Amino acid sequence: STFLGLGLDPLLVTHLQSKLNIEKPTSIQRASLPLLLSADRTRDVFIQSQTGSGKTLSFLLPIIQDLLPLSRESYIDRSIGTLAIIIAPTRELAKQISDVLESLLTLRLHNPDNPEEDVRLTRWMISGLLTGGATRTHEKARLRKGLPILVSTPGRLLDHLQNTSCFNVGKCRWLVLDEADRLMDLGFEETITGILKGIDGRRNLAQKAAEEGNTMDVGGWDWSRRRRTVLCSATIREDVQKLAGQALLEPAIVKG
Ligand code: AMP
Repeated sequence: STFLGLGLDPLLVTHLQSKLNIEKPTSIQRASLPLLLSADRTRDVFIQSQTGSGKTLSFLLPIIQDLLPLSRESYIDRSIGTLAIIIAPTRELAKQISDVLESLLTLRLHNPDNPEEDVRLTRWMISGLLTGGATRTHEKARLRKGLPILVSTPGRLLDHLQNTSCFNVGKCRWLVLDEADRLMDLGFEETITGILKGIDGRRNLAQKAAEEGNTMDVGGWDWSRRRRTVLCSATIREDVQKLAGQALLEPAIVKG
């Protein structure tokens, strides 16, 4: 099977080939992409696979494809805020994911006059890395402007959910818990519970505002539809299952 056959947008298929030299989906990508690219958002997804299997693209590509139809005008006018949050256990891993994400969000044009020139896939879809590496004030300023896709470590994310009032996650559509087994090993269970509460609490507020008359339909999207959550783990241990039970709704389990 091909990326196109799995439902990936032709623009992204070409981009993978020309920029990352990626032609054929890996086994975990073949198993997970049809589910995550599907418009049916009723089930969450548990990806059981090792590092090196290609799991990062399995969640990054569907997020990008899902956000592609939104225009920059809608994004700014409706102060949409953060649409996708990816949580990784360590700064190093968060940085790696953020680098892959950035490479997906910039296209190389092969302009003969300027061979190094990159253009953004869309002008509004930018990514942010929040790992406590920068000062809190600096991160707050970036959040105030709106960061559509966020990669973060758990502690700093919870900190912003609790203390940064301009952090707008009421319309968040995607949450990824990457390397959930390592998240548990590093003692982040309570932090993740706090994050889930923080995001859902703000989402409920946004829904309430909608019920009171502010439209939830932005750019053809029904914002009242639930957030989609993806959990990745190399193993299905008891503590990971417990986390999955908290975070995922009727998860489809894919292995590769
Ligand atoms: P990951 O398991 O997501 O950390 O990915 C491991 C490595 O595999 C990364 O360097 C990716 O660029 C690479 N990769 C991901 N998907 C593919 C693919 N379909 N074909 C070839 N390489 C891939």
